[in-house]
Amino acid sequence: MLLNLPIDSIIKSQAFIPRTVFSKVSPTSLKTRSKLAAVSTDALSRILDLDAESVADSELFVDFVSGNAVLSGSVPLAHRYGGHQFGSWANQLGDGRAVLLGEYINSHGEYWELQLKGSGKTPYSRAGDGRAVIRSSVREFLASEAMFHLGIPTSRAAALVVSDDPVYRDQFYDGHMKTERAAVVLRLAPSWFRIGSLEILARNGEHDELKQLVEFVLQHYFHAYITPKEYGQDDYIQLYGIIVNQTADLMAKWQSVGFAHGVCNTDNFSLLSITIDYGPFGFLDAYDPNFIPNSSDDEGRYAYKKQPEVGFFNLNKLREAMLPLIQSPAQLDAALEKYWNRFYRAYNREFMKKFGVIREHQDSQKLIAVFLDILTATGADFTASFRQLNLLLLAEDVVQIPTDAWALHKASRHKKWNYFTSLYRNIALDIRLSDSERINVINSTNPVYILRNWMAQQAIMTAEQDDFSEVNDLWQILRTPYTEQAYAEKRGFSRESPKWAKYLKVSCSS
Ligand code: AMP
Ligand code: MG
Repeated sequence: MLLNLPIDSIIKSQAFIPRTVFSKVSPTSLKTRSKLAAVSTDALSRILDLDAESVADSELFVDFVSGNAVLSGSVPLAHRYGGHQFGSWANQLGDGRAVLLGEYINSHGEYWELQLKGSGKTPYSRAGDGRAVIRSSVREFLASEAMFHLGIPTSRAAALVVSDDPVYRDQFYDGHMKTERAAVVLRLAPSWFRIGSLEILARNGEHDELKQLVEFVLQHYFHAYITPKEYGQDDYIQLYGIIVNQTADLMAKWQSVGFAHGVCNTDNFSLLSITIDYGPFGFLDAYDPNFIPNSSDDEGRYAYKKQPEVGFFNLNKLREAMLPLIQSPAQLDAALEKYWNRFYRAYNREFMKKFGVIREHQDSQKLIAVFLDILTATGADFTASFRQLNLLLLAEDVVQIPTDAWALHKASRHKKWNYFTSLYRNIALDIRLSDSERINVINSTNPVYILRNWMAQQAIMTAEQDDFSEVNDLWQILRTPYTEQAYAEKRGFSRESPKWAKYLKVSCSS
């Protein structure tokens, strides 16, 4: 299907390649020994219909993920897109180190696009080497799968291959160049198109290609919402409205698990509103709305609390990109205006679920606000505080905090704690919510385990010594994040993060 879109065959790198959506490329083989460091058996079996065990022993599979073997019939492509980076129009970016290998319709009838990340230079590599290092690839592999199991729309990671090929990176942009090792991730998504995919065409006056791509997106990814036909104005506007809603929902979900993406540029925002391009992301430890996961983001443009606004900003850029196709722009404006209402409704719903409350109540906003105020002031852990609400019994006269609820003990030092518990209890009483029903919802909404930076860092340090057992252990734990697991408990993964975690820095370098 993708091959029906404009494709350029100029293989060499160019500053600007007009009027195309893709360029033909070939992945560059890894030169040294490469090995399969991790696989997601879930993704392999459920999405790719592959038997994970036989894959692990298959040289062909390692060659495939390494970019050393291209399957027959595959026409590898690099996608041309643009983007607003940190608020400014950056013009052409494109897949500088990712290669789209093709499409796959699986035994469940689902359509997936396979991509290698870190598989060498493309015409869009600019000054880059087309490679990715172990640390960023491990983070992308683990985060994609962890987010999926948290129920957040995301791209997936099927496999991680590492090699001895040297890659040179100045990790903190401070003049300390280091030799690292190349890794490749096999990523899967129903679509890799981004807001920047349309922006590049609109901003360069390539309106025929813009119309073609918008209609392709409608036909191939939104046919469940809008029946394929001769598309017209109403369909473009409806498409935009759906993306506005879905992005608002995604932002609410990110906030609800304390996920900060780190680089919310329009080139990293999917048209299907799935989380893509994991770089310097971070999950909140102590609750801090100003948390900035990316040490290169000096202004905190993409701080945790800013993400909903950034979602709006990016959707506005999508609106601008669609304008050349639209005769009555007021309809697009009207669709965008619905963003905040949709976001707040979703945010309220997601957060109330975290309290175990799934019925409406007029004080729900108050409850969320007061609890988050308490967490902000006390610096109590975000994930654990919510999870430990399952230890409170609201039916009792005095709401006691059991000894093992370490996060709530910290939160309860706040002067508003008693006000919070009485508000919480009143809501439960009003809607006749029993403790057991509430606790069940809490347990299936609030994870015990998230991919905390320090956990990822430990796995990376051992991975860099060629030991991938930690990566695989974390992957295994994060597959069932709502269930307490003996090994994870032994490792302290549901405890307060160690002090050294505060000093960890993650930059854009990858
Ligand atoms: P990112 O911040 O990872 O989303 O990347 C932003 C842009 O830079 C995209 O166009 C990437 O393809 C490109 N890029 C990032 N790293 C490299 C690299 N090592 N080689 C080539 N292009 C890169
Ligand atoms: Mg990107």
